[in-house]
Amino acid sequence: MIWADRIREEIKERFAGEIQAKKPLVIRDEKTLSGRVHVGSLRGILIHGLIAQVLQEEGISAKFLFELNEFDPMDGLPVYVDEKTYRPHMGKPLYTVPPSEPGHENYAMVFGDELRVVVDRLKLPIEFYTLRPLYLEGKFNGVIREALDHAAEIRAIYKEVSGGGKPDDWFPLSVICEKCGKIGTTQVIEWDGANVTYECKKNYVAWAEGCGHKGTVSPFDGNAKLPWKVEWPAKWKVLGVSIEGAGKDHSAAGGSRAIGSRISEEVFKYPNPYDIPYEFFNIAGKKMSASKGLGASAKEVSDLLPATLLKLLMIRTIPNRPIDFDPEGKTIPNLFDEYDRLADHYFKRHKEPDEDFARTFKLTHLNPLKEPEDVWQMRFTLLSFVLQMPHLDLLQEAAKLKGSELSIEEKQALEERAFYVREWLSSFAPAEYLYTILRDTPENFTIDPEQKVVFQKLITALQDPSLSWEGPAIHERIHAVKEEAGMEPKRLFTPLYQLFLGRTSGPQIGWFLSTFEKEDVLQRLRSIL
Ligand SMILES: [Zn+2]
Repeated sequence: MIWADRIREEIKERFAGEIQAKKPLVIRDEKTLSGRVHVGSLRGILIHGLIAQVLQEEGISAKFLFELNEFDPMDGLPVYVDEKTYRPHMGKPLYTVPPSEPGHENYAMVFGDELRVVVDRLKLPIEFYTLRPLYLEGKFNGVIREALDHAAEIRAIYKEVSGGGKPDDWFPLSVICEKCGKIGTTQVIEWDGANVTYECKKNYVAWAEGCGHKGTVSPFDGNAKLPWKVEWPAKWKVLGVSIEGAGKDHSAAGGSRAIGSRISEEVFKYPNPYDIPYEFFNIAGKKMSASKGLGASAKEVSDLLPATLLKLLMIRTIPNRPIDFDPEGKTIPNLFDEYDRLADHYFKRHKEPDEDFARTFKLTHLNPLKEPEDVWQMRFTLLSFVLQMPHLDLLQEAAKLKGSELSIEEKQALEERAFYVREWLSSFAPAEYLYTILRDTPENFTIDPEQKVVFQKLITALQDPSLSWEGPAIHERIHAVKEEAGMEPKRLFTPLYQLFLGRTSGPQIGWFLSTFEKEDVLQRLRSIL
């Protein structure tokens, strides 16, 4: 059983009562939109989305709410925004910061909109929402009151769980300064049961400067927000969350999840949701940060793969193992090959179909309600080779390989795959996958007398007019010559590749030679004798 189904079984057990009462299970995840969204967040989205999908498959009512958090303070400047323009906005709620690109509602939604485009491709059962309107509608008023009334308890939980306490006069609330509009710089100093008194402090945080204003205001209806470690469990209660996982950085002992769980149970009297801790998504073995602009955003990684493959990349690894993704290595070709292998298991082309492989294939499929269609696909490496050969027509070669014309769906699948292969060839493909056909026999080409004899035999075999000039037939002839001569395969194949490609290896030799005119091949072979 694969991990998503195992988790579904645990959820069914824990929430048996709710499921029986047809109460929808709320699954939640979020991202603060302080910059381009890192690909690691996409892993969280896929995990939660997949759980929603497998629950819905069994007719269990479940909805996956994904929060685009635009209410947190701007607390950092990514390298790709203009520092001079944005420095003065540090400390303000993100939704009040102007967008860094035209066409978006605010600064946060520049990144939120980009993420939505990426996620929409994956066709997950996901509902996006933004945080600020919930505060404005008063949905958080109750939990704000509870948090302020239990400030001392919350301080004690912080201290007990993380060791790092908050000062005795700290209240779990950030007010939007009525004078400068910043939220990251204010400290609540008094709560009288109706209003809070706050100070906008010059040096309250290192990343923003307050204006010195002191005021008294209602903490409700959007005037203020909870700090995120308290807000997290507050959201569970406000939205009725049953299931919510978190990345490794939050899940460590003494971390924010541990603090949130205790605040949830002890202050908000709300059960800790079912947790799915998940590991990092590492690019080329190193954890890259999107805020440093190093290029590992959800968008950049998703641009490298079709949606089904992106899903496969995210779900093939169990949540508590890291995903290592090296776009410059063999990861991408291997991923395509794996997809094709899983398809063989799903469509029972494999001798011993494996249930878990078939299941994984099914879940990468974009429409869970429809059975995946069995479409013929060209292998990634072969496709990448054909695309590099100016003398080859992709559709013709595909039809030859398949043995018949491609259906409309197969043509679409081929075009989609070809698009991603071209992108890969022009960006990340390692040298071993790059081919150029030599126009002439290479100058430094040599073979020994024994090889010459065998090559002469090969010419005789290939110039036979009864030989049909097609991959399998050519392949058979070459192997017959090799067998008859008792020659080590490498001693025959290596010079063949060198002769046409200037390198020691290449695609399957019979098919490769069939892509040239017969006379051209014979001429090239004769030139070395
Ligand atoms: Zn201020």
